[in-house]
Amino acid sequence: MALQAQTGATKYIRFQKGTRVAYGALVGDDVSELTGDFLKGGKPTGTKHKLKDVKLLAPVAPGKVIAIARNYQSHLGKIPPPPRPEMFYKPVACICGPDDAIVLPKDSTEVHYEGELVAVIGKKLKNATKAQAAAAVFGITCGNDVSERQWQGGPDKDIQWWRAKGSDTFGPLGPWVVTGVDYSKLMLRTRLNGKVVQEQSTAELIYDIPTMIAFTSKYVTLEPGDVVYTGTPGTTKKMAPGDVVEVDIEGIGVLGNPVKGE
Ligand code: MG
Repeated sequence: MALQAQTGATKYIRFQKGTRVAYGALVGDDVSELTGDFLKGGKPTGTKHKLKDVKLLAPVAPGKVIAIARNYQSHLGKIPPPPRPEMFYKPVACICGPDDAIVLPKDSTEVHYEGELVAVIGKKLKNATKAQAAAAVFGITCGNDVSERQWQGGPDKDIQWWRAKGSDTFGPLGPWVVTGVDYSKLMLRTRLNGKVVQEQSTAELIYDIPTMIAFTSKYVTLEPGDVVYTGTPGTTKKMAPGDVVEVDIEGIGVLGNPVKGE
């Protein structure tokens, strides 16, 4: 199955059924359960489920969540592009899955969505060239780099973005990892309560995926399952309890999450 993933588009999921967590490959609305993690070559067990009968989890459980700031000119406005990829960490604890609630911390005042294309690493990488970095991308998924703007850049901003971009549930991921797609020009749309609020092609990334992965690997060893959030386009807005935010990437899928207060 892992070999097949390199040659054609396959959708991989991680799911829960009852108390059990398992991996699967998705064909239409049918889930073909795998013997284990698709990143480790999990193969079909023969067991099938209907998609509606399983709860989708974030498709990978990353050891590291790398992200990039300032990677679309439409988000920067008149600010010049950064001289190097402006990488940062989100804590793994912020990851949540499709349909999980984004929970606004009690004293937050300005929590924004950031719809983003996310690359999933499939091979260990250190000091990689761009070609090696490109070859190490296992697949692509959707992400939301949820951000509290006051903690990120307001008068009382923190030194690091540990809570601004790392509070619990601030990293929705999914719904599945898609392999074998050209991710260099996919239309990314974010909808807030059904209305399109971000819309741009990933062709507009200032630093493309191989460049940001190669740069990161100069300093940090990347491992299978690590994810790279690739930056958000355009402008973003504050979310409120009761909202539903969806990140929709052409050829990948839709990551939808409700928003609620703590
Ligand atoms: Mg972002």
